[in-house]
Amino acid sequence: MDERLQHLEQIYRQFDAFLEPYPLACEKGCTACCTRNVIMTSLEGRWILERLDAPGRRTLLGRITAAVDLPRFHPTLTFNRMADLIESGKDVPDEGGDPDWGVCPLLEKGECTIYALRPFMCRSMVSEVTCDDLGHATMKPIVLTAAHVLMQVIEHLDVKGFSGNLSDVLLELARAENGNPPAGGLASAPPRGILFNHPLRRLMVPWEHRKKIQELLASLSVPGAKVASPVPESSV
Ligand code: SF4
Repeated sequence: MDERLQHLEQIYRQFDAFLEPYPLACEKGCTACCTRNVIMTSLEGRWILERLDAPGRRTLLGRITAAVDLPRFHPTLTFNRMADLIESGKDVPDEGGDPDWGVCPLLEKGECTIYALRPFMCRSMVSEVTCDDLGHATMKPIVLTAAHVLMQVIEHLDVKGFSGNLSDVLLELARAENGNPPAGGLASAPPRGILFNHPLRRLMVPWEHRKKIQELLASLSVPGAKVASPVPESSV
């Protein structure tokens, strides 16, 4: 198997282990976060498509194609690009999808049709309290930091790939699978909704989370994913 896919599986496993000490209200059938706003990388999309058999792939792509004209979130920045902008003091656009646009095309009868294969964003949208009770998720700050960091790491692993809305990424990968990819990867002007990935130059980690995030990254052995030494409390 491609080493990057092995790293991706390791990230999924280690994030599950990281979450163990934090009690969560999320359970099967809870679908508040299953909107058309999910973002993922081409690596995660490949992992999904490679693990489905031909009928499974056809069903998945059929569901996405049937919803292709419905509104969905199109990000303008990847996570690593956002970190670069923050690092250089530039403004970061305040962007996000509207949950009222409707549900993810892969949700059927209240259940995810690819649950075991779902991308990292779906795995990381967790809550301590049932979202329906408060109208939003409630996450411990360290869990939010870990989720952001791992999204940056996954983008870095897939630095020659692309990111975008779950639907756009899967459709682009399927188009490439049909023998229609531009030579050498995506064209210099990517299709609408698709963003080139960026290398990880800076992780967005508050100093008080550095030790735990260092430990998490050390458990992953992903090349290039490091946090600077923790800042001693006395020096802050
Ligand atoms: S892929 Fe599955 S878990 Fe993720 S938003 Fe869609 S239905 Fe929900």
